[in-house]
Amino acid sequence: IFANVPKGPAIEVFALTQAFKDDASTKKVNLSVGAYRTDVGEPWVLPVVRKTEISIAGDEAINHEYLPVTGLDTFTRAATELVLGADSAAIKEKRAFGVQTISGTGALRIAADFLLQQLKLNTVYYSNPTWENHHKIFFDCGFTKLHSYRYWDQEKRQLDLKGMLDDLEQAPEGAVVILHACAHNPTGMDPTHEQWKQIADLVERKKLFPLFDSAYQGFASGSPDQDAWAIRYFVDRGFELFVCQSFAKNFGLYCERAGNLTVVQKSGATRDQIHSQLTLIVRGQYSNPPAYGARIVSKVLNTPELRKEWMDSIQSMSSRIREMRKQLRDKLVALGTPGTWDHIVNQIGMFSYTGLNESQVAVLIKDYHIYLLRTGRINMCGLNTGNIDYVAKAINAAVTG
Ligand code: PMP
Repeated sequence: IFANVPKGPAIEVFALTQAFKDDASTKKVNLSVGAYRTDVGEPWVLPVVRKTEISIAGDEAINHEYLPVTGLDTFTRAATELVLGADSAAIKEKRAFGVQTISGTGALRIAADFLLQQLKLNTVYYSNPTWENHHKIFFDCGFTKLHSYRYWDQEKRQLDLKGMLDDLEQAPEGAVVILHACAHNPTGMDPTHEQWKQIADLVERKKLFPLFDSAYQGFASGSPDQDAWAIRYFVDRGFELFVCQSFAKNFGLYCERAGNLTVVQKSGATRDQIHSQLTLIVRGQYSNPPAYGARIVSKVLNTPELRKEWMDSIQSMSSRIREMRKQLRDKLVALGTPGTWDHIVNQIGMFSYTGLNESQVAVLIKDYHIYLLRTGRINMCGLNTGNIDYVAKAINAAVTG
């Protein structure tokens, strides 16, 4: 019965990581997968996370009973507050609530299921390029009209706002628009506040449904408030919207799958209906979420001293990335590498869309053992003071041919 199952295509980012592991070269560099690395190229458990997990492990009051279907209440409230702001009118007026999800991916999936089942929305727009899972999640759950909107101007290596607005102008009423809250993956290029206002005007006029994907809050700029600016701006303007939050990057809790779907409504009167339907969707998929990561995030965000330590850690991660951006740009300029490289410092967050083309990428992988996506996207965290000279010289060689 299994004989006719075709083999599916490899997932590029995981295939590259495997190729990196199998590569015996001592010079190899992995710039593919989106995970933070220290300046010696190691994964980093945030000190406050380590401390908190030890204290949770020793806490006799904690057991392994099921969580409620919609998750740990102290976590969903803290997550919702983190994204909307503690003084958010939507929270005060009980127009906003959260449901715990299987990290950011799970939040997107639960959101998509709800939008299709309950609101009968079947059209989604995502940026071109975007995190490739956006298409898959919405396709798998049954959206039938999947469109991309222009986002990146490859020639100028900047945001193509006009293209974006022109494409969204074509979207029918009720289309879901996925917006990256900050640190756009893969380009690292975010709209300015002024550009967000233009986007909001269009979303409002065309009656589109904004769905914010927030996978990098705090990790991008070091300030959770700054990274949530666009979301809060939309909420202040009175939009009803979803936010899909991940705690993978900003807490370094990748495998623990801590996420939250924040729902913002015009009135609290719809809360119980929406909450009950989300409960049923989770129930049918995995019944209830894992507790481990949510307990850590909850304890850190709800304890002022721990929260401060977390803020220090996101500062140090984001400033290390900014420093790597600066060094890479400076080194490419010093080497006289043809092209402009300022976009590397103008971009924000984990990724840089370098502008390298597919054949240059192939040279970097084959001749220099530097692994990066076909599109030229690099994970800035894979760079460190020990390998940045090597990477800059390799990019220069690949570009000059
Ligand atoms: N959205 C975007 C744009 C992302 O980059 C990521 C992480 N790569 C996610 C969502 C979700 O990741 P996770 O499920 O690990 O939280």
